Amino acid sequence: MPLVVQKFGGTSVGTVERIKNVAKKVKKAVEEGNKVVVVSSAMAGETDRLLGLTREISSRPDPREQDMVVSTGEQVAIGLLALALKEIGIDAVSLTGWQVPIYTDTAYTKARIKRIDTHRIMSELERGKVVIVAGFQGVNDYGDITTLGRGGSDTTAVALAAALKADVCEIYTDVTGVFTADPRIVENARKIPVISYEEMMEMASLGSKVMQIRSVEFAAKYGVKIHVKSSFIDEDGTWIVEENEEMERVAVRGISHELKESKITVVKVPDKPGIAAKLFKALGDNNIVVDMIVQNVSHEGYTDISFTVNKVDADFAEEIAREVAQEVGASGVERNDRIAKISVVGLGMKTHAGTAGKMFEVLYREGINIYAISTSEIKISCLIDEKYAELAVRALHEAFIENQETIVVD
Ligand code: ASP
Ligand code: MG
Repeated sequence: MPLVVQKFGGTSVGTVERIKNVAKKVKKAVEEGNKVVVVSSAMAGETDRLLGLTREISSRPDPREQDMVVSTGEQVAIGLLALALKEIGIDAVSLTGWQVPIYTDTAYTKARIKRIDTHRIMSELERGKVVIVAGFQGVNDYGDITTLGRGGSDTTAVALAAALKADVCEIYTDVTGVFTADPRIVENARKIPVISYEEMMEMASLGSKVMQIRSVEFAAKYGVKIHVKSSFIDEDGTWIVEENEEMERVAVRGISHELKESKITVVKVPDKPGIAAKLFKALGDNNIVVDMIVQNVSHEGYTDISFTVNKVDADFAEEIAREVAQEVGASGVERNDRIAKISVVGLGMKTHAGTAGKMFEVLYREGINIYAISTSEIKISCLIDEKYAELAVRALHEAFIENQETIVVD
């Protein structure tokens, strides 16, 4: 019997009506002869509401207690979904993360899954039940509830699919798949039928918020086939799979943008060994993830070092940068919250030259200045002024996607 993991996001279970609709979808999969494990998010807006409650009491809530509170959103959703299934004649059982159990490390609010004990799920499936697992949560070595970071239900679903050796992990969401650019910005954005893990990881990390990035990493590591599709419209979505030669025929698969970062610059740093080490070690020791880093060419023994961090970490990062700046004799620290990172992503870049030049030219033609550039084998990102983000995405989409010729490989 094929085994599918179906994950439903917050909007898909946003109301009781929608939960009933999800139950019908699950029933259909059962009737088609599948064993089904469902992972659910909290009802739309619920996690934010719960976080809001914790913040009303404390400006920096204790992470353990915060997890205790926010993990309840999923518990409500899975119970309701189990009830909805029973109402339409499908036997189902809901399980929280600790009931499975899904073991995580101890990093409250951003825990990582270490191991999943599949015995309980397997025996419930053997009994012919649909198993509904709470997304976003697990249990640590102290027996405490942990959560996996915002959007973590995707990771729960993929990790379960890997542990259960499921045939496919279906991610049901409020969009019909992964698009070549944000359709709200680019009218001609198209659905991407098949994308590689690597490309999807870049897209996810660059701001295409269809799935939590960690879930895609997990899928790549364990070869879990993912199908992202709409809960509301019944059509094929986007498959996320192992890369194949076919995929290199186009240089650029998609354009993504990210507005969530701030740029911090340490100005006039003495140019000598060990300074970058000091700065980035301090940031790392405080659990701040740094994205782009640019160090300017030294000028009369001094240089500027800029880096970007998530806006939520920017205050803290700035504070740390100021401390380090003072210690090493830099002249000061500047910060810019109004920046955007625009990226082009595609496996084809590995084998086809000229993408970077073309990207910079498109931005230049629109009069957009570039603050920083970073690249990987399959991605080029530029940091620009936030106010030009939409213009840049549209222009790049037109140049790379709409006017793109398929590269013929013989
Ligand atoms: N409910 C959690 C959140 O809003 C997890 C998820 O939806 O994936 O982030
Ligand atoms: Mg999500």
